[in-house]
Amino acid sequence: MTQTTDTPGETRKLNCPKCNAAMETVNFQDIRVDRCTACKGLWFDALEKEHLDLLQGADSIDTGPAHQENRDEVVRINCPACHTQMIRMVDHRQPHIWYESCPVCYGVFFDAGEFREHKEHSVLGFFRDLFHRNERK
Ligand SMILES: [Zn+2]
Ligand SMILES: [Zn+2]
Repeated sequence: MTQTTDTPGETRKLNCPKCNAAMETVNFQDIRVDRCTACKGLWFDALEKEHLDLLQGADSIDTGPAHQENRDEVVRINCPACHTQMIRMVDHRQPHIWYESCPVCYGVFFDAGEFREHKEHSVLGFFRDLFHRNERK
């Protein structure tokens, strides 16, 4: 086990909500992202609006293969941070893309490859919609 974290005291270890493998921390500029070592899914802690600009280029950390077609296998996953059952979200303009959103801590989980796919369809607009949608009634 290599300890490469440069933020002592914040050595949280998450397990992938999808396949339960260990996740590794990837620091992308000021954004801390957890990436599954097995399926390469990406976990974002609650995104801050000021992070949106930084997300341009974040596809460089999405190293997984293009998304697979076996996503129906996962019906329910729990938030790796607070263990709340996550909600499947679908972008109405891109119904082939979905992701899991935690209603409590607002973390977001993407399958490997999906973040890159979002990038191709203006990820900034997508995340702005995401923030609005998280303000659920
Ligand atoms: Zn995984
Ligand atoms: Zn959560």
